[in-house]
Amino acid sequence: MSDDEQELGITERKEYSPGEWYAEVVQKAELADYAPMGGFIVTRPRGYALWEGVQDHLDEKFKKTGAQNAYFPALIPESFLERESDIVEGFDPEVAWVTHGGHEELEERLAFRPTSESIITPFMSDWVRSHRDLPLRLNQWCSVIRWEATETKPFFRTKEFLWQEGHTAHESEDEAWDETMTRLDQYENLYEDVLAIPVMRGRKPPHDKFPGADTTTTVEALMPDGKSVQGGTSHYLGQGFAEAYDLTYTDEDEEEAVAHTTSWGLSWRALGALIMTHSDDQGFVCPPRIAPEQVVVVPIWNEDNREEVLDYAEGVADDLEAADVRVELDDRDERNPGFKFNEWELKGVPVRIEIGPNEVEDEELTVVHRPDGENAVEGRENVGETVEDHFDKVYAKLYDAAKENLEENVREAYETSQILGTIGQHGGYVKTPWCGDQACEQVIKEEIAAEIVMVPMDRDEEPIGDECGVCGDEACETAYFAKSY
Ligand SMILES: [Zn+2]
Repeated sequence: MSDDEQELGITERKEYSPGEWYAEVVQKAELADYAPMGGFIVTRPRGYALWEGVQDHLDEKFKKTGAQNAYFPALIPESFLERESDIVEGFDPEVAWVTHGGHEELEERLAFRPTSESIITPFMSDWVRSHRDLPLRLNQWCSVIRWEATETKPFFRTKEFLWQEGHTAHESEDEAWDETMTRLDQYENLYEDVLAIPVMRGRKPPHDKFPGADTTTTVEALMPDGKSVQGGTSHYLGQGFAEAYDLTYTDEDEEEAVAHTTSWGLSWRALGALIMTHSDDQGFVCPPRIAPEQVVVVPIWNEDNREEVLDYAEGVADDLEAADVRVELDDRDERNPGFKFNEWELKGVPVRIEIGPNEVEDEELTVVHRPDGENAVEGRENVGETVEDHFDKVYAKLYDAAKENLEENVREAYETSQILGTIGQHGGYVKTPWCGDQACEQVIKEEIAAEIVMVPMDRDEEPIGDECGVCGDEACETAYFAKSY
């Protein structure tokens, strides 16, 4: 192995030091770098392409279901934030404030948005007059800043992060609740179909819902290190925000009514989950649908056959491009095939096509899967369709492995020592009957930093036992405890 090849490799091991391994994959696969300020990252083109993949998928779904994109200012006057007291309380410790414009101190401080309900809802209020203006569904793609004092972890924990935030207003609770569920379905679909990550759906416990919300729903994904990622949240806000910002309308009987609102957000944490779930000790592993390059064609030639191998490889790449496959032809002279294989494995290209003199002679190609090196010899005809079949196979391998990890790691426990012991030993989710008191979560949190990441979506679902697994009082819910990102 040459020096170059050694440099390419990931030195940390996912199993033993997942944190260091993750940071190395992110940097060496050229997804992101650390910015000079703690808590901020620079998203490199390969990382941003992944975010664009998320955007393309969701944006199409949002638009088909009635949402329109808009853009509101990044800075919000303090007086606007203060109109909804829960938002102020919930976000105040994390708000970044602008106090000066040039050398002048501002008369009113401006918050860099931690979320935009407080600037969007007042405008929705202006724009909505009658029930005919409802429902109103807005979405914006933007960044927000939450000044959390934690160690930087690209895509998982950063002070500034990219996300989309949707904000809608409706006539009735039922409609608003349907909206809340539609968005959660779309998030689930992104995780399952595009990112090849199975998720669980549920509600956040009351003490952990979005500030001011009636109900916060979530999709949770289990990472290979046993921690849960909150993959996206969709909030039914009730009428509290509409009341605080005068979002009222005249109903069919000409009476003034208060709207029901929702908000929903998914951030680039989805990319963190993607990288963490599938990648391995060789580098980034990416499901085909979102991969910036889906196929790399690597010609393998010697002096005698260089031209014919390259011609054939170019033809294959052209056919793939014509079939709308994102393909890269790696015809670099200065690198040998082994180096190229390593580099594209590190960068997460899901399918590699190798073409040497044998393939040319037999009018074939060798197709290799990124996650496990499985290979197959295929005919040259209909290469676009052939590759699509392999995409399906690669997707299934990734999804099935993640699904198995999830299914094996949901356990039950019925007393404190069992909850602590099970999470301590295995990670994953531990279901336990719960009385609904936050103090019982605190007991577990203080011992092993695990919390209630969700409760079942159905409020009427019977708890798995009669007595709270922590305090022994009557249980009203099943709590899912896990360590989380
Ligand atoms: Zn309890």
